[in-house]
Amino acid sequence: MTSRVALVTGGTGGIGTEICKTLANNDYRVVASWLSGVDDGEAWQAKLKEEGYDFAIAEGDVSDFESAAAMVKKAETKVGPIDILVNCAGITKDSFMHKMKHDQWDAVLRVNLDSVFNVTRQVIMGMRNRGFGRIINISSVNGQKGQIGQANYSAAKAGMHGFTMALAQESAKKGITVNTISPGYIATSMVAEMGEKIVNKMIEQIPVGRLGQPEEIARVVEFLAADESGFITGANIAINGGMHMG
Ligand code: NAD
Repeated sequence: MTSRVALVTGGTGGIGTEICKTLANNDYRVVASWLSGVDDGEAWQAKLKEEGYDFAIAEGDVSDFESAAAMVKKAETKVGPIDILVNCAGITKDSFMHKMKHDQWDAVLRVNLDSVFNVTRQVIMGMRNRGFGRIINISSVNGQKGQIGQANYSAAKAGMHGFTMALAQESAKKGITVNTISPGYIATSMVAEMGEKIVNKMIEQIPVGRLGQPEEIARVVEFLAADESGFITGANIAINGGMHMG
């Protein structure tokens, strides 16, 4: 039984929704961040209410420092101080490097990497003061191995783990753990948008022979979030069906 509070950025997305559900199923109070114009947080909240979940929501653009600060403030007003932060918001804007526009680079770096600073900065002092915190950064296998057409995304996702390792060392004596999860290809709309032909080609590269399920990411988030996981910090946990072994 826990009374801890978790904030999941991108909580309304494919992986984020399962993280929210799994944490709630384990008695965490959960607030999901969402972004107006990208998704509809209120509709998401209402749909999940029908499934029996009572999630709080907080709107904001995590790629913008002021907006992220306002989002965390809204979240904490609703549910109290954040004990567990899951940085899960992310986007792709794929292009070969020789065709990549500056705005494709910039948007992907801002949403996937700047966001980690923008949101973590809002909660880290409170975690230090209370002597407990769990920060879980959702990176990608492509941050570990690189991927054609994703110089922007691979750089941002690799950068997340650099952040994880530095902050893990800074925070270790304060009861705060900081870890990265690097999913392989997971069955969400982010992957479905690539089209059936490309998805089938990707599956050929996965020894387990299928896409991962969002639940398979969520159960590791819940494991890392637990009070009992305090000796795991600075790790990068691969969940990729054997596609890449570091
Ligand atoms: P998704 O598109 O379903 O969800 C992404 C979420 O991020 C959405 O809720 C969206 O509203 C939010 N978001 C986007 N831009 C935002 C912004 N500027 N401010 C606030 N929120 C914003 O994607 P997903 O498949 O659930 O991916 C979740 C995370 O997992 C991402 O970081 C992604 O890079 C990572 N990931 C996904 C896969 C995969 O195969 N699906 C693999 C590896 C890593």
